[in-house]
Amino acid sequence: MDVITIERKVLQKNDEIASKNREFFIQKNLFTINLVSSPGSGKTSLVERTIEKIKDKVSIAVIEGDVQTDIDAKRVSNYNVPVVQIITNGACHLEANLVKDALANLEGKLDNAGLLIIENVGNLVCPAGYDLGEDLKVVVISVTEGDDKPLKYPKMFMNSEVLVINKIDLLPYVNCSIKDLRANALKINPKLKIFETSCTSGEGIDKWCGYLTGSIKK
Ligand code: MG
Ligand code: ZN
Repeated sequence: MDVITIERKVLQKNDEIASKNREFFIQKNLFTINLVSSPGSGKTSLVERTIEKIKDKVSIAVIEGDVQTDIDAKRVSNYNVPVVQIITNGACHLEANLVKDALANLEGKLDNAGLLIIENVGNLVCPAGYDLGEDLKVVVISVTEGDDKPLKYPKMFMNSEVLVINKIDLLPYVNCSIKDLRANALKINPKLKIFETSCTSGEGIDKWCGYLTGSIKK
């Protein structure tokens, strides 16, 4: 029971800071997405393809969350967008206060930005429970992970508005049914908006980016 109480307090504090982040995003007219997934689903590649596709239309800033290294921030900075790396030093999810600190680091660079992409730490469990103040939680899953994952990690799919099924170019080589994956995800969350993408072939990136730019209120 004690553990539950402590967790509640932590989450309550997180939600308070997340609300402040949300106010800040509204004030700056920033549309914010929180990319969540297990490690290796292709979140950073999706960020790269998204930037390539829409950076002429929308100015973009990125917050990268990782347990260690700034490898992802370096990759993203090649696209000449403002990027901040959060290194959690072992923590397996981002919390609203870390995002708040990252926002302070981006000060002055967000004024004309229309889209903020937060790439969460690769983990299909606890990022589901931590609101960062985002407009959209987007869960990314690659077909290599198997079509049963929505059933095994339901909270992540329940708490997300969008599902991106990535690496569809690998479908011929893996034992994953897109039909079952979609059905399992919709069983958990019937409101999920689903996209299928390959960051290697570029398939589906147009549709995903069209949805994203359409969602940005400006
Ligand atoms: Mg990454
Ligand atoms: Zn965690």
